[in-house]
Amino acid sequence: MTDLNRLFAATKQAFDLPKGVIYLDGNSLGPMTHASRARLVDEMDNQWSQKLIRGWNESGWYHLSQTVGDKIAALIGAPKGTVTTADNTSINVHKVLSAALAMNPGRKVILSDSGNFPTDLYVAQGVIAGLDDGYELKVVTPEQVFDAIDESVAVVMITQVDYCTGRLHDMASITERARVKGVKTIWDLCHSAGAMAIQLDDLKVDFAVGCGYKYFNGGPGAPAFLYVREQHINNIQPVLTGWMGHESPFSFDRQYTPMQGIGRMRVGTPSVLGLASLDAALDVWQGVTMQQVRARSIELSELFMDEVAKRCPELELASPTDASQRGSQVSYRFHEGYAVVQALIDQGVVGDFRMPNIVRFGITPLYLDEADIIKAAEIIGDVMTNKRWDCDKFKAVQAVT
Ligand SMILES: *Cc1c(COP(=O)(O)O)cnc(C)c1O
Repeated sequence: MTDLNRLFAATKQAFDLPKGVIYLDGNSLGPMTHASRARLVDEMDNQWSQKLIRGWNESGWYHLSQTVGDKIAALIGAPKGTVTTADNTSINVHKVLSAALAMNPGRKVILSDSGNFPTDLYVAQGVIAGLDDGYELKVVTPEQVFDAIDESVAVVMITQVDYCTGRLHDMASITERARVKGVKTIWDLCHSAGAMAIQLDDLKVDFAVGCGYKYFNGGPGAPAFLYVREQHINNIQPVLTGWMGHESPFSFDRQYTPMQGIGRMRVGTPSVLGLASLDAALDVWQGVTMQQVRARSIELSELFMDEVAKRCPELELASPTDASQRGSQVSYRFHEGYAVVQALIDQGVVGDFRMPNIVRFGITPLYLDEADIIKAAEIIGDVMTNKRWDCDKFKAVQAVT
């Protein structure tokens, strides 16, 4: 066994995966760790039930947003004290977009791209409507982003890895061009944090947000994270002002004064159980580097693409073949993609479907190995060759795809 194999055989043991399932959807909802279960049981049996309100002081609840924020900071190249965990990604995009626009008052353009996740675009539309001050959302193709960064742009807000195809933006060159042109940067890391090495501080990124429930395995609806470049933090006037971002919440002042530090980006009482689950799940990263995860993800993705290509010529690869252009997922186009995903789930291979025709598979080295990848490809081959997807029960579309 190589060292990497040994390392990831150990991390796989940290997850509570159902028997007979190959889980290729950790980019959408990370699976449960044994540590999350133990932590939630402890929170219920020993903290919440026994300590009641004292839990805020005695069980670490009050500081948990920061405890978890600091753990995530270490995984995205951010200094301690620059990341908080609260709310969800959409709300955090609201917060950082408002803050970024206020830092560039003379400019009216928010630049994004057509590969962005729709919620980010919806948030931008809402922020623009609320400001009612001539702001404009400019959406270009991913290939056009770099050149579209000019002196008219206030903020460039993009998602590093495209949720459909896995296409990876070059964070270094885009951030640097933005800096030179006086444009503030917001990176959405939902599909990259926990999947690859990110150096927010080194690259001088202004703001970043991302999910707790995808590659960080915090559980359904786990709180999201929010990063602000250290030198900006105390200059930001939060737009979502609430008591948990106040300099002294328990003074109950009538006047809002923001806290010093990243805590000012909080609003109200956090979901403690969600944070506790995420906090416990993050311990799986002890002893694993993002470079190791990335190297392994590339290995497994290439194996997967080869094995699928051999068996399924009718699946058209939608992801870049060049690893340096791809995140940690492999996607295909197929006209009956939804039915294919349902047929695969029926056979124990869990991926997902995105409109209009994308079949997605997340490659997550913490709990997937070569044997899983080969087995999954065999099952995909069987479903495609024998058209097992071609029946009514797999074509009935459910609410969550
Ligand atoms: C998953 C995802 C989100 C999710 O936002 P929530 O508000 O947490 O539901 C946002 N942005 C991107 C790019 C995503 O992939």
